[in-house]
Amino acid sequence: MDDYDLLVVGSANADLVTAVERRPGAGETVLGSDLAVHPGGKGANQAVAAGRLGARTALLARVGDDAYGRLLLESQRSAGVDTVGVLVGGAPTGVALITVDPSGDNSIVVAPGANSRLTPGDVRAAGSLFEAARVVSTQLEIPLETVAEVVRVLPAGTRLVLNPSPPAPLPEEVLGACDPLVVNEHEARVILRGAGAEVPAEPEDWARRLLALGPKSVVVTLGGDGALVAGPDGTARVPSVEVDAVDTTGAGDAFTAALGWRLGAGDDLETAARYAAKVGALAVTRAGAQVSYPSGEEVAALDA
Ligand code: ATP
Repeated sequence: MDDYDLLVVGSANADLVTAVERRPGAGETVLGSDLAVHPGGKGANQAVAAGRLGARTALLARVGDDAYGRLLLESQRSAGVDTVGVLVGGAPTGVALITVDPSGDNSIVVAPGANSRLTPGDVRAAGSLFEAARVVSTQLEIPLETVAEVVRVLPAGTRLVLNPSPPAPLPEEVLGACDPLVVNEHEARVILRGAGAEVPAEPEDWARRLLALGPKSVVVTLGGDGALVAGPDGTARVPSVEVDAVDTTGAGDAFTAALGWRLGAGDDLETAARYAAKVGALAVTRAGAQVSYPSGEEVAALDA
């Protein structure tokens, strides 16, 4: 029996955010607004998004034995996520230092801390979590060798969803295990270039080229233009849900988590992506990442 609809393997960061009039130049100091501290990191975001939707979710991650680590554990637990796989210690909790300028543009420095200490050995030691999961979802804010180990321990019949963010060229064994590979435009370009492939003009063609690199299926997210799914049966456009966008931070993580959960529940790729597009749309209607994620009831209410 599957104990988890979704196992997320990935990063957990404290996001430290301050608003500035302008960014400092070299050697300069500027004053910012009061500091806001939010739980973040792609792995932690995905797990919270899935938990809030009602998916039985577990997170495999590493945080420091510090206040930010406790903040992250608390945000997971309040979303109903099982934190048995969250390892504590070895390095300080990962931190993202974020400055936001008056136009809303972000500049981000990430100190990965404990995320960089999530090792292939940690993945092997968490074998029972993998055995208990229907779908595994991961990203690239943890070492690539750890992601490669996830592919190796994946039980037969367990589906892997990979969002290669931040994007990096991927080994064939990782690409070939993705079902789907979930990319935005920037990630699509980096993966294609890294594989020596040309970057065509149309997203439909990116999806086809990406598919030719080995994944079993591909999803390209296109922000307010929705998404595109591609598999052996061809490609299909998934329209976005029209909303007043306030803050797109973390929309991709919410989309990917919802997609993985629905695929595990038996939806086909297009149906799962339609559901995920609703989750992504609701996530952009509110400020922040994890705090912006909708409940399953809110998603259902969109159709009412
Ligand atoms: P981020 O890095 O900001 O988390 P991303 O670039 O990985 O996001 P996006 O393509 O921006 O991912 O968003 C993921 C999905 O969320 C989109 O495919 C779409 O379904 C939904 N979405 C994003 N922005 C909007 C919007 N403005 N209106 C409606 N839906 C949106």
